[in-house]
Amino acid sequence: MNIQKSIELFAKAQTLLPGGVDSPARAFRAVGGQPLFIDRGEGAYLVDVDGNRFVDYVLSFGPLIRGHAHPDVVQVLADTAVKSTSFGAPSPLEVELAELVMAFMPNIEMIRFVNSGTEATMSALRLARAFTGRSKIIKFQGNYHGHADMLLVQAGSGVATLGLPDSPGVPKATVADTLVAPYNNLEAVAALFAQFPGEIAAIIVEPVAGNMGVVPPQPGFLEGLRAITTQEGALLIFDEVMTGFRVHPGGAQALYNVRPDITALGKVVGGGLPVGAYGGRRDIMQLVAPVGPMYQAGTLSGNPLAMAAGIATLQGLQVAGVWQGVADTAVRLTTAIQQAAQTAGVPVQINRVGTMFTTFFTDGPVTDWESAAKSDTAKFGRAFQVLLENGIYLPPSQFEACFLSTAHGEAEMEWTVAAFSGAFTAVARTA
Ligand SMILES: *Cc1c(COP(=O)(O)O)cnc(C)c1O
Repeated sequence: MNIQKSIELFAKAQTLLPGGVDSPARAFRAVGGQPLFIDRGEGAYLVDVDGNRFVDYVLSFGPLIRGHAHPDVVQVLADTAVKSTSFGAPSPLEVELAELVMAFMPNIEMIRFVNSGTEATMSALRLARAFTGRSKIIKFQGNYHGHADMLLVQAGSGVATLGLPDSPGVPKATVADTLVAPYNNLEAVAALFAQFPGEIAAIIVEPVAGNMGVVPPQPGFLEGLRAITTQEGALLIFDEVMTGFRVHPGGAQALYNVRPDITALGKVVGGGLPVGAYGGRRDIMQLVAPVGPMYQAGTLSGNPLAMAAGIATLQGLQVAGVWQGVADTAVRLTTAIQQAAQTAGVPVQINRVGTMFTTFFTDGPVTDWESAAKSDTAKFGRAFQVLLENGIYLPPSQFEACFLSTAHGEAEMEWTVAAFSGAFTAVARTA
């Protein structure tokens, strides 16, 4: 594969941007090689600056559920842009997207649009703290909620522990109120509530984890979180930035029929433009300024282009059978990948929920960070490179989710399965 232009661009980019990228997940550090610079996307495909074409399973890390440059999205962006790109004043598009989101997620009674998933979770936690008058929060090991200081914490090993910052620059004091429990572990959560009675404002959780690879909640886990927060007077925040419109049209809250108090959204809700949102119970949302005292603002929040892309994307998902079609494709694809792995004698564990999945290179079930971390990342890296050579673009880490779109059809599935077969054979040969 000729990637000469990407090589030149990457060399230059590294002198201008830290690591040559604007977000570390793109840097290929976990798989070797170097990132490809992308010229354009077309439906299910990415085309790099050297003209190489790939079936794209990143889809901008989730947002593009209708594929790249869907004509409906492009059209509405063009129609909106000629009327200006931002007003700093309300527009009808915000009302329209709010109603659309609530049609998918009736549990959301009021919503505030922001510019990223990071902003959404950060604001949701501020709101939970304002509502309860408490400071502490519980998050889960291996769950990612954006890069706000207080959330950049992972657990120590095994047992629930007090969090230590993951990154220099995060003051200890900022994470002093962040408690961490292992995913899918209700006992650890109960222990934290017992240890800090009346101090915990909220639990924030990826209701299907996506940021350690796809890890579904065990039966009873989300229900247990709902029960204990209700009992302890704390709020339950579902971070559905990734799962919203992806694991079910109505998100994990619809799939598992568990109602959070606050929901954080991002990714699909912006259709590929920078959007986040948080919403939930009316009595809680009425604490948000200007109705209530909890301050949160944004120069570009509710931006017309971003709202328009979100509207076109969600409207596409409202058409009967469209979302289910993507999920059905995901079932067929993951079944075929599992089969190919078996044929090649490579142990993998595929976790799929709705339209997202991860192929873990491990033989045991993956239910939390500890079991995910048992994956053979060297094998993943090898498979990743073989897939890339054969025109399949996966997220460049074992611990990410792959995404499908309405643009991924039969031809792409056949090509992908053939490439996976080759990748598994290569992995088996190296092992
Ligand atoms: C992507 C993601 C975020 C952060 O969203 P950004 O738009 O990247 O700030 C937060 N939570 C989850 C679950 C995510 O997947």
